[in-house]
Amino acid sequence: MALSFAFTDEQLAFRASVRDFAEKVVRPDAVSTCMALEGLEEGGRDSGLLLSLGAHICIGAVPIWLHGTEEQKRAYLPKLCSGEWVGAFAITEPGAGSDTAGITTSARRDGDHFVINGSKTFITNGPIADVINVVAVTDPDASSSQRMSCFIVDRDTPGLSIGKHLDKSGNRSSPTSELHFSDCIVPASQMLGPEGSALWKVAFECFDWERTVMVSASLGGMEAQLNACIEYARDRKAFGKPIADFEMIQDKLARMRVGTNAARWVLYHAAWLKQQGLPHMQEASIAKYLVAETAMHNALEAVQIFGGYGYIKEFSVERSIRDAKLLSIGGGTSEIQKLIIARTLLGETP
Ligand SMILES: Cc1cc2nc3c(=O)[nH]c(=O)nc-3n(C[C@H](O)[C@H](O)[C@H](O)COP(=O)(O)OP(=O)(O)OC[C@H]3O[C@@H](n4cnc5c(N)ncnc54)[C@H](O)[C@@H]3O)c2cc1C
Repeated sequence: MALSFAFTDEQLAFRASVRDFAEKVVRPDAVSTCMALEGLEEGGRDSGLLLSLGAHICIGAVPIWLHGTEEQKRAYLPKLCSGEWVGAFAITEPGAGSDTAGITTSARRDGDHFVINGSKTFITNGPIADVINVVAVTDPDASSSQRMSCFIVDRDTPGLSIGKHLDKSGNRSSPTSELHFSDCIVPASQMLGPEGSALWKVAFECFDWERTVMVSASLGGMEAQLNACIEYARDRKAFGKPIADFEMIQDKLARMRVGTNAARWVLYHAAWLKQQGLPHMQEASIAKYLVAETAMHNALEAVQIFGGYGYIKEFSVERSIRDAKLLSIGGGTSEIQKLIIARTLLGETP
């Protein structure tokens, strides 16, 4: 009897679909994450939820995935990935935001432990996080690139307390708070990445994920907003005809389309460069800056198209101005992005 070892078409198709699934879903990559966040915001229209989810993924779980030891990955990633645990990242302090090198929260070594003291503020998911990646000064005398280390701190660690819940202007479904550390004892094994590497490795990596991936959610919001404006402009009548017939309204719609498309291309280009492992610091800052500026411009124009109704809380366009404003502040302000763009243009260290 002749034996055939050839695979059937069905088997080949099955193998291809498994490989396809593994490539697209299992292996995490920047572009797919952008697409997921963009789609979630376009469908859900809740930028606060996406802020919390984005922070959970990009600055909560990703740093552990990238810099964690095998033990840390085994201990934290399954529950962070399943959503059972919520993640957060804490570098900003009451006295130091843009100036990340100026943080003062300290982590003093005491045998096989570190003792953390200080306060953090504006921490996304602060009130609900189970796991917080905390940046603290471990060697005050070292240069700024070697002064800080990052620690994975569990929510129930003695000495960690959740401070004031911050009442934000927009993105209100995302909880934000202060965090206080008072003789908070963390085992040395909780250090994330090599000692002294927090600023240049962990934190800058977090900022990179925020700028090339996390802000992609707002592209979905812009898309949904533009569609709502088109629909409204067709329905709303003034002077006996739909306002969509007025050229000045058409100008707004056209500019919103141009801005959204431009921001999308620039952001996905940065995400693609990141995924390929190619240099993209300038592209990431251009993307973050352009997405932030476009989201604010489009939100203001959307309110204008809706007229008086745009100024009323019942309509989502009112909220979009408050939500969009955060994009030019969180994850590095627009001024800082321009600084990075200019410095990379001039060949200086950003
Ligand atoms: C809702 C929300 C969520 C946040 N989530 C987190 C989080 O999860 N984790 C975290 O660690 N942080 C978080 N942040 C903090 C955020 O990253 C900082 O607010 C941001 O980096 C700006 O820092 P700052 O507020 O101290 O402003 P500052 O640094 O004091 O800046 C004030 C102004 O001065 C400008 N400025 C500062 N330096 C320069 C310069 N060199 N050149 C020109 N202009 C300059 C700034 O652009 C800004 O306009 C969050 C903030 C908000 C509002």
